[in-house]
Amino acid sequence: MTRRYNFCAGPAALPTPVLERAREELLDYRGRGLSVMEMSHRSPEFTAIAEAAEANLRTLLRIPDNYRVLFMQGGATMQFACVPLNLLGGGGTPNYLDTGIWSGKAIKEADHLAGSHLAASSRAGGYVDVPASDRIALSADAAYLHYCHNETIGGLAYDYVPDVAVPLVCDMSSSILSAPLDVSRFGVIYAGAQKNIGPAGLTLVIVRDDLLGRALPQTPSLLDWKVYADNASMINTPPTYAWYLAGLVFEWLKDDIGGLEAMAAINRRKAATLYDAIETSDFYSNPIAPANRSLMNVPFVLADEALNDTFLGEAEAAGLLNLRGHRSVGGMRASLYNAVGQQAVEALVAFMGDFEQRHG
Ligand code: PMP
Repeated sequence: MTRRYNFCAGPAALPTPVLERAREELLDYRGRGLSVMEMSHRSPEFTAIAEAAEANLRTLLRIPDNYRVLFMQGGATMQFACVPLNLLGGGGTPNYLDTGIWSGKAIKEADHLAGSHLAASSRAGGYVDVPASDRIALSADAAYLHYCHNETIGGLAYDYVPDVAVPLVCDMSSSILSAPLDVSRFGVIYAGAQKNIGPAGLTLVIVRDDLLGRALPQTPSLLDWKVYADNASMINTPPTYAWYLAGLVFEWLKDDIGGLEAMAAINRRKAATLYDAIETSDFYSNPIAPANRSLMNVPFVLADEALNDTFLGEAEAAGLLNLRGHRSVGGMRASLYNAVGQQAVEALVAFMGDFEQRHG
């Protein structure tokens, strides 16, 4: 069996020890004689799995007691709709920051449901940086401010947390758990699981409890955060196996890695290794302002775009998978999520140097 280096943007690499543990427990979960996939979500066994996952997540992110953790489905995309539906019951205008494709999709959904105010955008400069904090101009009746911490396609990340007097809502799909986080700065944090949390099918929402109960009256119950909070995220059958695997990932982060400070140090080193290689070469380039370079998603282009397919083919033959950039932007992208190790990045950089020698 060979596990190759997987730089996919999502569903992304999972830690090998997590998959090994899942394999060990697959047919017979800890002597219970059945798989986690086959358990009732209301059984004592699964309740214990669900509660342990939440407890470990709370420890990792130091989530304050006045925040609820919801385990939902529908991906981050469903949360693009849940955010306005759940926060506009008291009136006001949704405010958004625009930094690229994913924040743009969230804005589109808010526009569809309620209309929105663009509080700042880095579009004019081609989304190579984030709006400066003093450029954020909220509307007078702002109900909340939404932004995307890490634009997965653009490879662009905020280097500050906006300081505003309204609830701050953040899409952290591609950066959650990559570094410590001060949850108390946020009203709502949400993330699809299939990058740093676990397999696709699960979506995490972390919401301050005073923001529950503000849903628009027409909000369907399965999109209503309060309904999840009141029912321990089991209003209907949750994605039990994804929840279990997320729990194993949280344990791995806590016990094998040693927490999010340790994870952040590993991630900084990985990203520095790749950005340094790009910086010191005339053959590869990345357009993002240094302060806003994503540690998780590193897009780069070759000086000669005609070599793209050769690069990808040779990379794959060298055991480096999923380096093709998003279909909307082309080029290359290496996603360096938590489960992608320093060794993988070094193998990539060595390959890039060799490719440049032969084709540059
Ligand atoms: N937001 C961000 C930042 C993302 O990277 C993605 C998926 N790549 C999404 C939202 C959409 O996530 P999902 O596919 O889980 O709906």
